[in-house]
Formats: sequence, C-alpha cells, structure tokens
Amino acid sequence: VQTSFRSGKEQSKAMYEKAKKVLPGGITANIKYFSPQPIVMKTATGCKITDVDDNSYIDYLLCYGALITGHGHEQIMRATIKHMQNIGTAIFGAPHELEITMAEKLIELYPSIDMVRFTNSGLEATLFAIRLANAYTGKSKIGKFEGHYHGGANNVLVSVNPNQEEAGSELEPTSIAESNGIPVHELKQTIVLPFNDFEATEKLLRKNKDDLAAIILEPIQGGFIPADATFMHQLRALTEELGILLIFDEVKTGFRVHLGGAQSIYHIKPDLTTLGKVLGGGFPIGAVGGRKDIMMYSAPNDASDIFSSGGNSTAKKDVVFHSGTYNGHPVVLAAGLETIRLLEQDGVMNDLVYKTNLLRTKLEELYASYHVPMQTIGMGSIFNIVFTNDPIRNYRDMWKANKDLREAIDIELLELGIYNKPSNRYSLSIAHSMKDINKTIEAHEIAIKNVLLK
Ligand code: PMP
Repeated sequence: VQTSFRSGKEQSKAMYEKAKKVLPGGITANIKYFSPQPIVMKTATGCKITDVDDNSYIDYLLCYGALITGHGHEQIMRATIKHMQNIGTAIFGAPHELEITMAEKLIELYPSIDMVRFTNSGLEATLFAIRLANAYTGKSKIGKFEGHYHGGANNVLVSVNPNQEEAGSELEPTSIAESNGIPVHELKQTIVLPFNDFEATEKLLRKNKDDLAAIILEPIQGGFIPADATFMHQLRALTEELGILLIFDEVKTGFRVHLGGAQSIYHIKPDLTTLGKVLGGGFPIGAVGGRKDIMMYSAPNDASDIFSSGGNSTAKKDVVFHSGTYNGHPVVLAAGLETIRLLEQDGVMNDLVYKTNLLRTKLEELYASYHVPMQTIGMGSIFNIVFTNDPIRNYRDMWKANKDLREAIDIELLELGIYNKPSNRYSLSIAHSMKDINKTIEAHEIAIKNVLLK
C-alpha cells in the first residue's frame, strides 16, 4: 500500500501538518483519519468535492452517506436560506411548526412510528432509544450484534475483538470495549450477539431475557450486509415473546435503502427506530420514533394513559429524560424536509437505485475480466466492494476479504479523482450522472492496472 501520495497534495499535506498541532491527530472525528494522510477539502458541489490543492474528485463518501442529494443542492440551499431570512437561524427553546411537519412526515413514511423526538446526532438518538427501552421494560441490559455501529456511547461501543484469535466463539462472541475509557461495569451491560445466526442468538436471548431491555441492530449492517429475511422475522417474533424491545438503528439505512427505511423492505415493525444522516439534508440531526406507549414515557404531562397502555415499569411518568438545546433545529428540519420532498418526486429513488446497481454490475464485470475475486454487496443507494467470492453474512465474514488490495485500489483511486475514505462503503446521490459513473469505472480499470499489473 502506498505510503504517500505521488504528487499534487502539497497544500493538503501542509495544512494537515498545521492541524496536527492543534487537533489531536489533526482531525475532529477519528473516522476522518486514513493513511497515508487525510485530504483537506475546500469546496464541494453536486457529487464533486475539491481539495485545497484544487484537485477535484467524484465523491462517494458523501459525508458517510448523509448527502443523498449531493453537496449543496440548490433547492435545499434555497429552502434553508429562505427559512433564515424569514425567521432567523433558529427559534431556540420553543416549539415550532416544522417539528410537527417533520414528525408527521416520518409517521407517514415509517409504519412503525407513531410519535417522534428529535436529537442532534445518530449517537444521541440511539442513547435515547435505549434509555426509553430500559424505562419501559424496567430492565437494564441491551443486546447488540457484533460489528454493528450505533454511535460512540459507552454501552454500544462494544463489539467483538478484531484480533481473530481472541474473538471468542462465533456462537457467543467475547465482547470488548471498542475504546479506551469505557468502564467495565458499562461493558457488562451489553451482550454481543452473532448476526444472521438465529439459533445462537435465540440461546443468548433466552438465557438473558430477564435482564435484556432491548436489542438494537442495523437491519443492514454498515449499510451493506443485509439481515436474512427469515432471521429478521424470527428475531421479531422472539423479542415479542420474551418481552425484549426491538430497536432498528436506521441512521444509515433510513431514506437510503427505501424512503421508509429497511423496515419497509422487510415488512417488520420494530418497537423503536433511530434515524439521522439523510434526515438532516446535510446538517446535524437524529430522531427516535416508535410505538406511542413507549415514546410517551418521555412526555412530561399526565401519565395516566401511559400506564394503562402496556408499560410495566414502576418508574415515574417523566422519568425518561430527553433534552437538548438544539433539538428540532428549524434550519435543519427545513433542509431535511426539502430533501424528503426531492426524494419523493416521481422516479427519483428508482433512478438513484438504478444508477447504483449499474455501477455495481459494471464494477463486478470489470474485476471479473481481470480475474480478481470481487463482489459488491449492499442495498438501495449504498454498497461496498469486497475482494472475496466467499459469501458475506456478518462481521467475521469480512475477515476473509483482501483488505490490503482494497486499500491499495482506493488510494490509487484518490490519485485518479475518485473520493472515498479507503475501505469505506460507496454512497450515491441524485447528483451522480451516468458520465460520473462511467468515469468511475474507467478510474477503477486504471487503478487495477497500476496496483496489480505493474
Ligand atoms: N448508527 C448508525 C447505524 C450509524 O451509521 C451512525 C453514524 N455512522 C450512527 C448511529 C451515529 O450517528 P452520528 O454520527 O450522527 O452520531
């Protein structure tokens, strides 16, 4: 793998050196780092992003999938600017109409959602969903699947040991904290489960049913490894039987795989759903939606209707604390509503998925013509490139893929004007044209030649 860029990244390098003096690692989120060094960006429009050395790239990172309409879509810009001109930057600390409009929209699109609360990030949404589940069930542990990401909170930053020798049995993964600084007692609140293995999951759930408030999962892990439909339906039935709430974390899949999220594809109603990313139209947001009897645990009014509707906790009515200075920020909601409006137009989602599938097929054909074992996996407008022909059904299957080759190809693509964080998923936007897709395929062919045939 290349240890530095060949040329044309001088300003980026200089700026990154400067950044390292004031920002730990030169970055503001660890995910922004990659080797040989992160590229410092300057401007972006549509599906193009330009770095400080004026190199232009076709962007497939799209802020980790958030920018489904591309950078700075004209209608979204207009909607937010109009809002600010009319009303100001925000109506802090008071209810306003867009909160209701957006909540109604989510209720319309997501059949499992009766009520909604907004947050400022996906992380806050999963945190709040889990707290609601704990209060509702009167239990305190959660189950999560290995390799699934739910934001950086202590109790979900728990997964399997990436060191394969120490990862424990596939049937009962050894859970470890994915960060330094997570107290052991918090680690013990989370039970790590094997994804797409119902028999093993069932055993762990039955064993821990009296402690488990909820299971949280990405219905499509990382946005690209789908749960088997039977696994999902069995899990829904079992959680209902055992009194464990089912939380779908659709921060990544919401609006990307379907306007109504993965749950609309699987035809499953989770008890709670978390959303984020696309929902904010390029601005920070998160949301929790779900069953009224659970959501009402956060309502500060008279709680008599909560306790007659199935909750079994002895906690008091307003025990589920939920707050945030910027919750329901109107500029963010204006951008989000405009995004949904754009996506709801006739044929827009179909076209986006069509383009994505075409890119996937053409890439698969290209790599096959060079006899490189490669597959694309994903759903809707998001997919990943995996260098193995073995089936990928969970986190451990990814160990079989040729990671070094993926990284080398991705770094070469950065030289050729295709932007993604090396080894990351591909997200597409409505701004990607057929010309961009063809250019991307051409760049892959050059990358294959440069990496493998030199
Ligand atoms: N859940 C999932 C499935 C995510 O993909 C992410 C972000 N990658 C989060 C939660 C956390 O969202 P945020 O970064 O907005 O806190």
